[in-house]
Amino acid sequence: MDYAIETQCIHGNGESFAGDRTGTISFPIYQTATFEHPAVGQSTGYDYTRLQNPTREKLEEVVASLEGGLDALAFSSGMAAIDAMMELFAPGDHIITDADLYGGSIRLFDHISEKNGIRFSHSDNIEEEAEGLINEHTKAIFIETPTNPMMNVIDIQRLSDIAKAHGIWLIVDNTFLSPYFQKPFQFGADIVMHSGTKFLGGHNDTLSGFLITNSQEIADRLRFIIKTIGTGLSPFDSWLVLRGIKTLPIRMERAEENAKALVEFLLSEPRVTKVYYPGIPGTRAYEISKKQSTGFGSMITFEVESRELARHILKETKLIPFAESLGGVETLLTYPTTQTHADVPPEVREKNGVTDRVLRLSVGIENKEDLIGDLRQALKSF
Ligand SMILES: *Cc1c(COP(=O)(O)O)cnc(C)c1O
Repeated sequence: MDYAIETQCIHGNGESFAGDRTGTISFPIYQTATFEHPAVGQSTGYDYTRLQNPTREKLEEVVASLEGGLDALAFSSGMAAIDAMMELFAPGDHIITDADLYGGSIRLFDHISEKNGIRFSHSDNIEEEAEGLINEHTKAIFIETPTNPMMNVIDIQRLSDIAKAHGIWLIVDNTFLSPYFQKPFQFGADIVMHSGTKFLGGHNDTLSGFLITNSQEIADRLRFIIKTIGTGLSPFDSWLVLRGIKTLPIRMERAEENAKALVEFLLSEPRVTKVYYPGIPGTRAYEISKKQSTGFGSMITFEVESRELARHILKETKLIPFAESLGGVETLLTYPTTQTHADVPPEVREKNGVTDRVLRLSVGIENKEDLIGDLRQALKSF
């Protein structure tokens, strides 16, 4: 189906049944662990919820349609999705990743995947270095763009050209922009990953994760993995994310509008020493974003003049909570150095620019003047 994304968010590709014989408009929550078989050797298509459940299936269909992928799998969290993805690899395999990644991904790679025999090269200039890091064991390149938390933008097409030339996969964590603003398959990605906890769910109330692929072979292998390891998303949580996605386009638009206003405010504040946001013209991030995404999103990272001021802001904002996570309707302030990136070795953190003066703002959909007012009073009272 060729529906526009706003329609897909509400109806998916419009092909599967909407509900049941009642004519329900909201897709039902099939809160069941198992399904009755009509006879020996027959199935309704559903056998046991670890394998598949209609509510999860509906959600997967919607997410696959948003990304333009062949298949999507819904997991109990973003980390569960990445962990399942790692089961595609075998001991001895080598993966190239960007050095600036979500802290949980770095922790998984360094402490779980490495133990299982998978080797990594982390590059802080992956566009230039990826090709030289490829060896006979290399199976994939894994990136986020924009990166968390430093908001570097990586040229997806450029990396996919390198991956294709060497017969390896390009995997893109698309959490920060969501398919509303960026669709990595258009630039040659093989697997797209999401923490659905963030923009897709959108309400800071449900964990979820997704793997989307446009390869039947990868989809078949992932279906085997999800039914075997059992980390699929529950029916109720699937329903919550389905509901969240319905408003994805209008949330993304409003959050971005608010983010742009906050960036302007932060740039005008003398105690704010740096603002990292891909929508600031004249930067490389801006030029690449223009090419591969239809928006800049609502994540802002900024640096203030001292560690004390950073901590003061976290304590003194009245409206904006100091909390981990992002992508919800509530604006949140995060302190990457002690929160999301606490387990990243300090020297790597410093090198990536994640210092104790850096704050991350996930901008929600509140009134922008209220948000600016809150930050202004926190800065003023120092
Ligand atoms: C939050 C996040 C994850 C992990 O997702 P969870 O749902 O918290 O497990 C992975 N990647 C990025 C970019 C994230 O922001």
